Amino acid sequence: SLAVHELRTPLTIMRGYIEVFEDELSKSLNPEQQSFMHNMSASAQQLAAFVSNILNVARVEENALYLKLKEENWESVINGACKDMELRAKVHNKKLVLNIDKDMPTAAVDKVSIYEVLNNLIDNAIKYTHTDEDIIVKSTVKDGMIETTITDKGVGIQSNLIAHVFDKFYRAHQSKNSIGGTGLGLYLCRAIIVAHGGNIWVQSKEDQGSTFGFSVPIYETVKD
Ligand code: ADP
Repeated sequence: SLAVHELRTPLTIMRGYIEVFEDELSKSLNPEQQSFMHNMSASAQQLAAFVSNILNVARVEENALYLKLKEENWESVINGACKDMELRAKVHNKKLVLNIDKDMPTAAVDKVSIYEVLNNLIDNAIKYTHTDEDIIVKSTVKDGMIETTITDKGVGIQSNLIAHVFDKFYRAHQSKNSIGGTGLGLYLCRAIIVAHGGNIWVQSKEDQGSTFGFSVPIYETVKD
């Protein structure tokens, strides 16, 4: 994590300039150059997510992951996180489909940490789906909590391996060599959701796809 920490500043500078170029050059680029630009931006974003995962796992290990729960409009939290992942989905020929119930109550969450959870779950749905099937993000109220699920029709997980996917450094063996990753994403998601007082779970069938779900508290229920 010490080494990874040093990547933060140069990466932020690169992402800043990519954003400037995207804004200023978008009209003058041909379609091929535009897709190069999208790839560059999505890759820089992926690298930033990797850096952030490593640093947060180090915080979890040192018992120093601090969350500031605030009242947040859940629909905007989901929309914000999905907007960031849309480009990455597009680069992989996929679409995110949002299905958020109307009139959701506000949530008590640390927005930055919840972005990390959504980033990791959506990133996995993109990575482990080799077709161009949509990825569906749903939110509803269930059992007094706000429940969100991310469903893909990807490679799925073998039933005997499901119990391990939230373990630190765990990577299911069938995908280990062909798809990049660290095995830290779901470990971190679980730490963040448990710290919110919520639950995280998965339902999956090999070759059919997976649904990852998590719950966070409704603001009204924990306000006091
Ligand atoms: P990583 O993706 O970096 O390997 P994660 O902690 O995010 O690490 O996931 C752990 C393992 O769980 C992955 O290696 C993969 O085998 C499995 N997995 C996670 N998400 C999915 C998914 N949406 N579909 C199929 N397998 C998944």
